[in-house]
Amino acid sequence: MKNLSIYVHIPFCKSKCHYCDFRSFQNCGTDDINEYMKDLLQEIELYRDLGKNYRIDTLFIGGGTPSMVSSEGIAKVIKGLREVFSFTEEPEISIEGNPDTLSFDKMAHYYELGIHRLSMGLQSDNRKLLKTLGRIHTPEDFLMSLENARKIGFRNINGDLMFGLPGQHLKTFQQTLGWIETLDIPHISAYGLIINEETELARKIHQGTLPEPDEDLEVDMYDYLRSFLPKKGYDHYEISNFAKPGFQCRHNRTYWENREYLGLGLGAHSSMGKKRFFNAEAFGSYHQLIEAGKKPIAAEEVLTDKERLKESLMLGLRMTEGVNLSHLERRHESVVEDALIMKFQEFIKQGLLENHQGRLKLTPEGLYLSNSVFREIIG
Ligand code: SF4
Repeated sequence: MKNLSIYVHIPFCKSKCHYCDFRSFQNCGTDDINEYMKDLLQEIELYRDLGKNYRIDTLFIGGGTPSMVSSEGIAKVIKGLREVFSFTEEPEISIEGNPDTLSFDKMAHYYELGIHRLSMGLQSDNRKLLKTLGRIHTPEDFLMSLENARKIGFRNINGDLMFGLPGQHLKTFQQTLGWIETLDIPHISAYGLIINEETELARKIHQGTLPEPDEDLEVDMYDYLRSFLPKKGYDHYEISNFAKPGFQCRHNRTYWENREYLGLGLGAHSSMGKKRFFNAEAFGSYHQLIEAGKKPIAAEEVLTDKERLKESLMLGLRMTEGVNLSHLERRHESVVEDALIMKFQEFIKQGLLENHQGRLKLTPEGLYLSNSVFREIIG
């Protein structure tokens, strides 16, 4: 039996955050949600073939806002998965939720179901910034959910943070981190804001009703984050992720280590062996395929060994421990070509990469410019 990670996508949200371009939909009624959850259960059934050879080691129920769905709905998903797959002895089962939809009873039911990792959207402790982002929770809502989660028994908790926000000052961000420290959450994911076109935030910035975020200031905030959290006992283990000892996210490591994962639900992506496949992104086509008894796959590609090697390199460099080059070659039965080595040398000369005892890593400078480095590597 091989280990597998599964991602389940729940594409519903109470309201759309102003910066969000994820596959998530607001104003969906109970009937829409129930129909989707029924399709999801059917989709799980369609993977019985895989269940013979794989057991689930990590399961991540994400979105969207999975806590929008009743905990009974989530229980059916887990039951469905248990009927098709076995689980490892100590699987990591995570769920994402927003403070405004995480009641005590719902979280207690999650815990009973074996969901012991909770990832909550905090983004900021500043009311004005939360409003700018279109978040509907308050810092007090977050605190209440955190307190309840701990009473129930949750220890493995992630808080999502954002920085580089319009109107956010370095001092405000420093205060947020000071507040975070007092909460003693064992895992923090912190992302710089990306302004996506077609979002409310982009429109407001174009109209001039919100200031454009200052890129230099965002770099200063990232710098502060990288020095502050490690001093407080967090390991900066991935570009945007920080964990206290024993609390790294096993599920996300699957992605960065380029191991196999299956994505279920609307628009979910999967990576199995050399195949990458992508589920239908529209409710209609997702439903029609399932109704016809077919896996709801809209597109598929098969990567060559060299493409997989580059993919592993690009994903592995996201982790601060870097990539062991000889392991990489062995794993992919492919060689790191001279042209790629030349690129590494160029990046090493520019101070963006370093080769430390056979492990290739981004330097602190390279962390800021990681996207350009990855683009070049994929080339
Ligand atoms: S809660 Fe998350 S997925 Fe939903 S709208 Fe906000 S950012 Fe998007």
